[in-house]
Amino acid sequence: AAKAGGRNHFRFFTKSMHSEAQNRVRLAQDLRSALTSKRLKVYFQPIVDLSSGEISKAEALLRWNHDALGDISPARFIPIAEESGLIHEIGDFVFSEAVSWAMQWSAKSKNTFEISINKSPIQFTRGASIDWPAYLAERGLPAGCVTVEITEGVLLNASTQVATTLDKYKDTGIRVALDDFGTGYSSLAYLKRFHIDCLKIDQSFIRDISVNESSRAIAESIIAMAHRLGIRVIAEGIEEQNQLDILRLAGCDYGQGFIFSKAVPPIEFEALLENRMS
Ligand code: C2E
Ligand code: MG
Ligand code: MG
Ligand code: MG
Repeated sequence: AAKAGGRNHFRFFTKSMHSEAQNRVRLAQDLRSALTSKRLKVYFQPIVDLSSGEISKAEALLRWNHDALGDISPARFIPIAEESGLIHEIGDFVFSEAVSWAMQWSAKSKNTFEISINKSPIQFTRGASIDWPAYLAERGLPAGCVTVEITEGVLLNASTQVATTLDKYKDTGIRVALDDFGTGYSSLAYLKRFHIDCLKIDQSFIRDISVNESSRAIAESIIAMAHRLGIRVIAEGIEEQNQLDILRLAGCDYGQGFIFSKAVPPIEFEALLENRMS
């Protein structure tokens, strides 16, 4: 019986693997057409200055409403975009959309508006995509208004191409944020080797920060260490007031999370900006 069960299990496993592969191929095709048919959209989530309570910047986050399958999470489709190579075009799309909105929001307020854009490790491997510093110079948006969010995966065994790009960002004023901080490898060496402006504490620590001593200790230590290095800190995934209280007490610079707002379409974000600024 065990043997038969094993065989069944094996058959089931290969079958599901096969359909998963088919699903991914289909999703990659659908993703391509979603990009051209504008079904792929850039939303914005506010990042709030924890001392003033004002929206200080926004993270651009992709949203995909699939005709048949409904909303598909970026956690699902970004890896597919990376595998299929479509991430380069998608990345250019997010970047140019985010820049154009940042320019409009900067024009409407007295201050320039800052945006934060995720860049996948794969996007560092090809030079054919938009050259961020050149593009910003051409449009006239100060490079300091743009932050690139990378994960430790980008810095792990960083190629010369990655190092060159990051050096160029540093020279031109584009800021670098290390995303999902605390979940990766030996993060501390990177902080010495690369010019990092900002750390984003991963939401897994924030989620239980008020009930788990270890999470709280980790978050507080990241904040203290970052500040010693002149690095700003953003806490991701703040949902509750007691989490916010702890982070404020720990001196965390910025917060992002559903307690303030989820990612919303640009028009809604603009309304959010006008309400909070007035
Ligand atoms: P991330 O860059 O770490 O983005 C933060 C994620 O946390 C977003 O998920 C956001 O919606 C979610 N989040 C924010 N506040 C809360 C909260 O209070 N509670 C909870 N539960 N979640 C919160 P999202 O939009 O689903 O994106 C997931 C990941 O997909 C991102 O993680 C990022 O790695 C990737 N991604 C999204 N957009 C892009 C993009 O334009 N380019 C690239 N390369 N990756 C992207
Ligand atoms: Mg991010
Ligand atoms: Mg993150
Ligand atoms: Mg993440």
